[in-house]
Amino acid sequence: MKFVEYSNKDLVATITLARGDKANAQNETMLDELHECFLEAERDDSVRVIVLRAQGKHFSAGHDLGGENDPDAVSLAEADGTFHLDKIYRWESKKYFGYSWYWRNIPKPTIAAVQGKAIAGALNLIFPMDLIVAAEDALFSDPVVLMAIGGVEYHGHTWELGARRAKDMLFTGRAFTAEEAQQVGLVRDVVPRDELWDRTDALAREISTRHPFGLAQAKRAVNQTLDVQGYYSALQSVFDVHHTGHGNAISHSGYPILMRLDEMKSNLK
Ligand code: ZN
Repeated sequence: MKFVEYSNKDLVATITLARGDKANAQNETMLDELHECFLEAERDDSVRVIVLRAQGKHFSAGHDLGGENDPDAVSLAEADGTFHLDKIYRWESKKYFGYSWYWRNIPKPTIAAVQGKAIAGALNLIFPMDLIVAAEDALFSDPVVLMAIGGVEYHGHTWELGARRAKDMLFTGRAFTAEEAQQVGLVRDVVPRDELWDRTDALAREISTRHPFGLAQAKRAVNQTLDVQGYYSALQSVFDVHHTGHGNAISHSGYPILMRLDEMKSNLK
């Protein structure tokens, strides 16, 4: 694997984003590798709990939209350089929404360990996890309104934060601190940065002593309760709302996001 590391020890699988030099910006290879790791952890009966964590200063800067000549960046351009919404929709259905939705439903507890900035596409990785442990420096944000998009592909915001805080996050683009995220229930524990991995691992090991079928059924009970309240339908319809944003951007500029690069870059230093 190139951008993700996988280990399995004593009932706990640990998946680590390993592109810390690029703030774990997500390219297609990373997402495919991440999905492979989750599939492996799901099918391996010796795994009872799955931890997702990230190397480096920041959990993830979101999707790697990179430069035009960056072979690792995500580009959905046609051969002639134009962009078409049908292709973008199909690709994002699978690689963004589809992967995230699959991870959300794996019948084993998943725990994310988040430090530094977790921007936009980072939330596609964090929202589907069952529990979240954050370092004191963790910052959660989705500033894509700057690009004339209404939010990232996996719209957990309203469920996780409540309607008014979700609007606050999206309208202002500001980052929610670890403490704030804990107050609204998104984050379970806020811990010192240098204890993040150990504390997350300890939580995973505690949970791993429980009966695996009991864990699977508990997860199913909570997820099913959300789903009958419309969780899946809402995510699906907001995914389509997201694509009116891409379509609008293409109609104005030929590019799937209306970028204000200066402001985007100021979000990650
Ligand atoms: Zn998108």
